Amino acid sequence: MDKKEAKLRIEKLKKEINRHRYLYHVLDKQEISDAALDSLKHELDQLERKFPEFIAPDSPTQRVGGKPLAEFKKIQHKLPMLSLNDVFLFTEMQDWENRNKKLLPKEIKLDYYAELKMDGLAITLVYKQGIFWKGATRGNGKVGEDVTENLKTIEAIPLQVNLADLPSSLQKKAEEELEVRGEVFMKKTDFDKLNEIQKENEQPEFANPRNAAAGSIRQLDSKITASRKLNFMAYGLVTDLGQKTHQEAHEILQKLGFRAGTKLNQYCPDLSAVEQYHNEVSKKRNSLPFWIDGVVVNINDQKTFERLGVVGKAPRGAIAYKYPAEQATTVVEDIQVQVGRTGALTPVAHLRPVRVAGSTVARATLHNEDEIKRLDVRIGDTVIIQKAGDIIPEVVKALSKLRTGQEKKFNMPVQCPICGSKVVRRKGEVAHYCSNKNCFAVQKEKIYHFVSKKAFDIEGLGPKIIDQLLENNLIKDVSDIFGLNTSDLEPLERFAEKSAANIIEAVEKAKKISLARFIYALGIRHVGEETAIDLANHFRTIGRLQKASFDDLNRIYEIGEVVARSISDFFQDKHSLQLLARLLDQGIKIKEPEVRKKTEASGKTFVITGTLPSLSREEAKTKIREAGGKAASSLSLNTDFLVAGDNPGSKYEKAKKLGVKIISEKELLNLLK
Ligand SMILES: [Zn+2]
Repeated sequence: MDKKEAKLRIEKLKKEINRHRYLYHVLDKQEISDAALDSLKHELDQLERKFPEFIAPDSPTQRVGGKPLAEFKKIQHKLPMLSLNDVFLFTEMQDWENRNKKLLPKEIKLDYYAELKMDGLAITLVYKQGIFWKGATRGNGKVGEDVTENLKTIEAIPLQVNLADLPSSLQKKAEEELEVRGEVFMKKTDFDKLNEIQKENEQPEFANPRNAAAGSIRQLDSKITASRKLNFMAYGLVTDLGQKTHQEAHEILQKLGFRAGTKLNQYCPDLSAVEQYHNEVSKKRNSLPFWIDGVVVNINDQKTFERLGVVGKAPRGAIAYKYPAEQATTVVEDIQVQVGRTGALTPVAHLRPVRVAGSTVARATLHNEDEIKRLDVRIGDTVIIQKAGDIIPEVVKALSKLRTGQEKKFNMPVQCPICGSKVVRRKGEVAHYCSNKNCFAVQKEKIYHFVSKKAFDIEGLGPKIIDQLLENNLIKDVSDIFGLNTSDLEPLERFAEKSAANIIEAVEKAKKISLARFIYALGIRHVGEETAIDLANHFRTIGRLQKASFDDLNRIYEIGEVVARSISDFFQDKHSLQLLARLLDQGIKIKEPEVRKKTEASGKTFVITGTLPSLSREEAKTKIREAGGKAASSLSLNTDFLVAGDNPGSKYEKAKKLGVKIISEKELLNLLK
């Protein structure tokens, strides 16, 4: 065969192999046997070895990568890879829709595109000139790991996308750069086979397909990844190729040559159609060849989706509507009480260890006394437990028919199991609390939380050292940490001079803290990391947060009633205020959240009146805050601008009297730029 013939033959083989790959791995159709396809691949490989000048980056032979990597490079995502909030109930779906409606002008009607939520690993793929160029994991959402070589081994990922079906104007754009997102997953049969092989080789088995997929993608040797039979489902088109809806994005993905689930996914004109889809998928779930853990519901209209923006790390316009978690049965060997950071006593069932959803479970929460009564769960009972996401498993049912008569009822202790103080149940609350505010257990948990990574992040100050500090009466609450010196620490057991100095240095460094971390560190009930960030961005100083009323808090979009109540209670409690004062006395410097960009609106106070032409009131307020301005509800001499829409009402006249500058929505948007 001469050079010219070889080139032609290589081209033809490439095309044919790729066609069969697409049929088999994307469309689940098979025209020729595996052996026949392997034979074609073998011929191509031989030819390319002879004529290496004809090896193209999209040749099927390039799927099995070269040498193992020493480590993965980091890749910055052009657009952050977000995660989704989870719900389990239809009422929660309705809440989600209502929250979104509140943020949108009334005339917008919401429709949805619902798709299967693959239980795998999120991946982003970038194509240049139509050829697969780079792929990365989600990582922390902003920076992921470059796993290009491993992704190339996945047959369902095209090495070259099909741009021919796009309108010519968009072809150019897509050639420049095309970014696609989706899920790498493993089929049930491939997962079972993999675990069989692991067992034969005396290697640990994978707990679930998600772990298996994640572990396989993060192999430094792409030959191992290739042996794992991973799969890919696309769900997101990052590049604007004219898609006006999420559904259109899926259709384009399909045209480009991806498996995009278009036959299993569904357009839903309203939420009740979503519910119907969710139910239908639930019935089919076990017969699908892969695992899903729910359905993802997207607001179909792209513009509306973008308009709703992001809260925390999740887009407001999409949500994961999940299925109840997997269950197993086991025996309750004991019920013990734990004292948590809020002082609440939580009964915990100690179980005969059992495997649920791929991991061993030995403890399950019983939440509170009412729950134990409702379940009528007794020590010795056989129970059904279930795991929901990453939350601790819970007991869902006691199987009373299996009782022998030896079972024992559980009673909530009347005294705190840690400090012996009286246990009380507050009016209107289900939880019991230790009445001793300085309860060792309470304090200990609070201090652990206070110095933890997401809070003050004091390096070296772990639970063991905190226990020692408490036992030796060196600290009684978190504020005392900032008064420690090296001579306090050195006498402690197993403490070297150097590590004492290191800790004191870390404590000094931790005195400068962002407002969000500070709020989180306080350990206010129901205030997690994201809520702390929301509060910080909204109030900007601890003083303002402290003065906020229940109504002020409840008005914030992200803050629900229970959370608002908890925050306002915290800041009305004498002990909390004393603690705050002590912390500030110790020289804690709280940094105000950064205003992303300096705008003309920074530091200015705005009041909105009347109906604005394009923004809803909440949208306008959010935009003002994001630009560093303040959005107030009533006019005063401190108001800088009144933003007036149609039918402005009495505020308009008042603003004139006070000499407050009156501007239109258009002028507002200019100020915010
Ligand atoms: Zn106690």
